[in-house]
Amino acid sequence: VIDVAEFETRARAWVRENLMPANPPESRSVEYYTPDIVAQNRALQLRIYEAGYAGIAIPQEYGGQGLTPQHDAAFRAATIGYQLPDIGTSTITTWRVCVPILLAYGQSDLLNKIIRQALRGEALICQFFSEPSSGSDLAGARTQAIADGDGWIVRGQKTWSTFAQLADFGLCLARTNWDVPKHRGLTWFLIPCHDERVTIRPIRQITGGSSFCDSFFDDVRIPDTYRIGEVDDGWHVAQRMLVMERGSSQVAVRSSRPEPGALAPDAVAAARDAGRTDDPLARQRVARMHSIDYVFQALHWRLQELARLDRMTPGLAAYGKLFRGTHRPVRARLGVEIGGAAGLTWDSAGSDIGSELVFSYLDGRHSSIAGGTNEMQRNAISEQALGMPRERSVDTGRPYRDVLAELRDKK
Ligand SMILES: Cc1cc2nc3c(=O)[nH]c(=O)nc-3n(C[C@H](O)[C@H](O)[C@H](O)COP(=O)(O)OP(=O)(O)OC[C@H]3O[C@@H](n4cnc5c(N)ncnc54)[C@H](O)[C@@H]3O)c2cc1C
Repeated sequence: VIDVAEFETRARAWVRENLMPANPPESRSVEYYTPDIVAQNRALQLRIYEAGYAGIAIPQEYGGQGLTPQHDAAFRAATIGYQLPDIGTSTITTWRVCVPILLAYGQSDLLNKIIRQALRGEALICQFFSEPSSGSDLAGARTQAIADGDGWIVRGQKTWSTFAQLADFGLCLARTNWDVPKHRGLTWFLIPCHDERVTIRPIRQITGGSSFCDSFFDDVRIPDTYRIGEVDDGWHVAQRMLVMERGSSQVAVRSSRPEPGALAPDAVAAARDAGRTDDPLARQRVARMHSIDYVFQALHWRLQELARLDRMTPGLAAYGKLFRGTHRPVRARLGVEIGGAAGLTWDSAGSDIGSELVFSYLDGRHSSIAGGTNEMQRNAISEQALGMPRERSVDTGRPYRDVLAELRDKK
């Protein structure tokens, strides 16, 4: 196996020659990702794959390089400050959640095909978890998968599926058994989004964008090789997936403890734009944004270190997710307060500071809901990190079919 230091030296040389310098990727709405932009980013992924730098720690049998997580970290360090494939949330869900889960629980026939496709930029994977009647109560999923010969028929509706309109596949939680308690009758499947029996319909948001979708499965037929994990053991897989999702920092990888750095640049720009750089109230808010930014970086650096040491737990992941879910809305509110009237108006070209502040204000709430609400993180912290008693549940131990029948009777 190639030595990590030598690998990093080679990687740095390749990166300098082949990648464009770039700022850290911004959070963009789906409308930015036009077919051209998506095609360019898929092509960039393919170039990285062909150079031998994609899937560095993924087994060679699935198209990876079969090296260690240290080699992977070395490549990521070498690419800081350079442009990497960016298809928005699709990149995050594919690489930080779906591919690791597929590798942990997928059948090798499927992995042979899908992981290679993902490494080549041909498989973007979204998450089909939430349903109109089950979001926080993920285990209450009612989309069903019915055994049919050597495969399954999937029927139901998912909602809030982020970037599903760009995805090639989605990881879907479906009910395979109604006669056991709800957590014990679930199974995961991979759904091909381009199947003619899959309908993906974007949902219009308050910002005007449509980053997530309703997804309908009208008897989608899939082979058993598309099953992920054991039949009826989906809750076990879901737990691992949620830790990955909530624990993934979504902050640039750092090798050393972060420093406080410059004052929040967007807050300073908003104060300048509003002519309030000498106003003590605006200055306090800039300072507050700066300090919560620093706490955010420090917390995520620490969580990243724990994950690296394989010490991430559901309770710890919930701390990170809760901070993300409060940081962004609080920050967005402070921004609007600094901007004053200038922060609430914008020109239709959308290029001035007001439009950014208002966008963050309207969009910022999503981080307190997506990936599990703030309240659910507080539940997880109290029960799983602090050892407080579990929340009372009316359906523990009862077949899900009976629970639903009772709900129907009560209506
Ligand atoms: C921007 C965005 C992107 C998303 N992307 C995806 C995606 O890609 N794939 C996907 O499958 N889903 C996605 N979701 C869905 C998300 O996971 C759910 O919205 C979330 O889990 C909450 O579920 P819900 O909307 O059904 O709210 P509900 O579960 O109905 O909750 C309503 C309110 O009740 C509170 N509540 C519920 N249960 C409890 C409890 N036990 N204790 C205390 N309070 C409780 C909640 O905190 C919330 O305030 C996304 C959501 C958003 C906003």
